[in-house]
Parts: sequence; C-alpha cells; structure tokens
Amino acid sequence: MTPGARAAVVRRRGGPFEFEDIRIDDPGPDEILVRVVGCGVCHTDIAARDGLLETIFPAVLGHEGAGVVEKVGPRVGRVRPGDGVVLSFGSCGRCAHCREGRPARCTTFDDINFGGRRADGTSPIQDAAGTPLSWFFGQSSFASHALTRERNAVPVDAAGDDELAVFAPLGCGVQAGAGTVLNELEPGPGDSFAVFGAGTVGLSALMAARLAGASPLIAVDVVSSRLETALELGATHAIDAREENVGERLAAIAAGLDYGVETTGRSSVIDQAIRSLGPRGSLSLLGVSAEGEDERVFPQTPGPRQQVFYSIAGDSNPQRFIPFLIRCHREGRFPFDRLIRQYPAAEINEAVADSISGVTIKPVLRFGV
Ligand SMILES: [Zn+2]
Ligand SMILES: [Zn+2]
Repeated sequence: MTPGARAAVVRRRGGPFEFEDIRIDDPGPDEILVRVVGCGVCHTDIAARDGLLETIFPAVLGHEGAGVVEKVGPRVGRVRPGDGVVLSFGSCGRCAHCREGRPARCTTFDDINFGGRRADGTSPIQDAAGTPLSWFFGQSSFASHALTRERNAVPVDAAGDDELAVFAPLGCGVQAGAGTVLNELEPGPGDSFAVFGAGTVGLSALMAARLAGASPLIAVDVVSSRLETALELGATHAIDAREENVGERLAAIAAGLDYGVETTGRSSVIDQAIRSLGPRGSLSLLGVSAEGEDERVFPQTPGPRQQVFYSIAGDSNPQRFIPFLIRCHREGRFPFDRLIRQYPAAEINEAVADSISGVTIKPVLRFGV
C-alpha cells in the first residue's frame, strides 16, 4: 500500500481523466515503486483512452514516466531507493530477442504492455473500493506513484526533479522517433530524409537524422507552428500539406526519397509517403492507426527494392539508448526539450486536448509540485 497515492483514472472508453485515490501493492520480487515526478502524454495514451487498443476499463494510462525509486522488491539489483529513473516499455527478459538485447522485439510485448495485468492475472493497482485498474505498459504513470518492473526502469543521472521531468518523454515518443532512424533506417551523410507528421516522434526522428548527417531534411505537417519548430530544429524544408502539393514539393526538393518516417497512421499519408520513395528508399511507419488495427495495411505495394516496415519503439534497447540520447542532449546535439510544455498534473485533460490539437507538441505532466 502507498498512502496518499493518486492517479488519473479513465473509467470508460472515451471518458475523461479524473484523479482518484488509488491503492498500490508493495513491489513484487522484480518490481519497484517510483515516486513520479513527470509523465509525458503520448498519442498511444489517447488511442487507449478512445478504445483503439482493447484497453480494459477502468484504467490508469501513462507510459512516459520519470521519477525517483522509493521501494524495491527482493530480487531487484540494478536500481536502489533514491535513484532517478526514466520508465520505458516492458519486456520479458527471457525470450530470445530480450536475451540478445532487442527488447522491442520481445515475443510477449503486446501482453506485457497492453494486457493491463501481470502474468498471473492480477493488477498491482486498485481503486479505493478495491476494483483492479488496468496497468498500462507495466507502469501506469499518470499518477503520483507508479509500480513497475525493474526492467522498465532506466537509471539516469539527473540534476534534480526538474531535469528528471524533462527526461520523461525519452521513455517512448522521443526514443521511438530517434530509434527508428539510428537503429533501423541508418541514413548516412547526404541521404535525403523526410518526416510525415512533425509531432514528438517525427521531430525526434528529424533531429536524429540531422545527427546522422542526412540532408536535405524535410518536414511535412498541417500545423504551421510545428513546421516552424521543425525548421528551428534543423529541417531544411517544411511543407504545409494543407496548402501545398506534397508530392510536387517533395519531387522538387529530393526526387525519390532515400528515407522516410511516417507518424500519423493515416492511410492517405502512408500512401503519399510510399509514392515519394526512391527506387531503393526505406520508410518506417510509427503511427498508431487513426482508424484502428484493421487498417494497418499498406495502401500501395512498395517496389521490389523498397523497404516499408512497421517500427516498434524504434527497435531501441532503452537501457543503452536513453543514456545515449541524454548524452547527445547535454552536448546540445539533440535538443528534444524544445518540444516540451509542462502542465500541473491536475490539468491533464487540457494537456491531452492540446496534444490532439497540436498546440503543444509534447505535454509533460508534473506531479508533486
Ligand atoms: Zn522478451
Ligand atoms: Zn508512447
């Protein structure tokens, strides 16, 4: 039990986030209790709220938590109370992919992150009446405290709570965007690169492509403030899909793209992105389908030497990749903090609305301030 624990609970599909007192189990053998300092709002939280991920309600969402370890279970060895941690996706640690350091390919990824329960069918979080609450990504960090597995937690060296809160989005959106570029696409100097959708994932991909020396760097979006941010972060060209013919502009800038990242999940945009690829171009698809899982098909067949693939978490190993991104950030080469606006946790519904409208690229909720 964690006295005073509160969480933003969603009671029904599409319902609001409402803060309630919750009960949290003591950590099991491989689990830890974290006092949450900050948690990013990701589009996957919104898709889950809206019932696109088969979430069982009531649920506590939130999967970009960062905070300070308060308690650890008896088998925990890597983190100790007092450590600052960024929480990322869960993985089993036992399958062949996990053992070779590729946890994003974990064979039980969906069960662990979206199943809402531990492997034994219990949830470590309950409402005040004792009703189980779905455990999201094994962390449910839209809450003052999160119970998670040690494997989800990446120890980080933060200067204090304020810096720790800035690191929160590294757990999912920033890692996914940067990871698909640096771990999967691997563009080289002078390769053309475009992002379709300049939100957190797209702009993180763009910053990573810049790190890799790709050029030109093109951002496509429908929100002018996001396109301005893209240009500030190093995009060489910005295309407003509401006002310009995307295909013609892309063809004029880089006929036949070498690399692309699609983050909107919309069939029409995926189609556009595939048509923009060069004969040996590669496209990573990272969007949560706006229409639901059934629509996850390529609207257009790629050419024989083209590559189009769905990326999960940018094929990242959080234990290595998140500290790497923090180093790049400290060196000024990966300024992902520019995407963030912080909100008091009580303003979670405003933060979600601002994320949907695009006014805020990455809302981070602050807890305990
Ligand atoms: Zn695994
Ligand atoms: Zn996410």
